[in-house]
Amino acid sequence: MAQQIDGFELERTMQQLNTAGQLGVRADFKPELFDKAIYQKGYRILWEQAMFCSCYRGTSGQPDYNCPSCYGKGYIYFDPKEIRAVVTSINGHKEQINVGLYDMGTAYLTPRSTDNIGFRDRFTFMDFTTKFSEVIVRDSGNQFINTDNLRYKALDMYMVRVLDTVYMRGKDFDLSKDGKQMVWNTNVPSGTMYSVLYSTNPVYVAMGPIHELRGSYSMLKAHGLESFYQFPKQYQIKREDFLTPNE
Ligand SMILES: [Zn+2]
Repeated sequence: MAQQIDGFELERTMQQLNTAGQLGVRADFKPELFDKAIYQKGYRILWEQAMFCSCYRGTSGQPDYNCPSCYGKGYIYFDPKEIRAVVTSINGHKEQINVGLYDMGTAYLTPRSTDNIGFRDRFTFMDFTTKFSEVIVRDSGNQFINTDNLRYKALDMYMVRVLDTVYMRGKDFDLSKDGKQMVWNTNVPSGTMYSVLYSTNPVYVAMGPIHELRGSYSMLKAHGLESFYQFPKQYQIKREDFLTPNE
């Protein structure tokens, strides 16, 4: 018999998850149903796993800001994979929030039980856009290159300026095909600082699990055997661009 998944089922299982810490093993918790609900109701997310870059110095807690591998972030990201996950706000834990509009910067993410999320993993929300602004130093590397790297992939560029001077897309500059670089068509002197405002997919990082329950025994009624399954985890996530240098 096909089991119906609806918003109520997801809400019920989310509530189970939120009370799991106090109640211990839940006999009525069905991981397959939960995973199915997450898949059907969850957002499309590009998930990248994180690990320390070897430039990171545990004693000082500082990465090498000139590191050619992590660019001073201290973490390296690998194995991008599209997953589905449900995201809820700090208050309530029940209804999904609109990630693109939720600019407070902190939320909770629940993936399917098979997706083994780790500390500092990165999530790009593919169904949402947000605005991002940064200051870039023109030509900070090789003076013969007419491109500068953007921190995030630009979906659209709204404004590029040096103080009061505005540069026009299609005339003064273009975006690279992958949206990750500014391509200059006009001569902006090396070392010039310019600011950009563009739209991008919001990027969050996992700060830590909020339910430490690692697994649960479930009685298989048909056989009377105990089987071990991984209990779904919830992670606190934070907007990457809102992280303070010490986080
Ligand atoms: Zn590094």
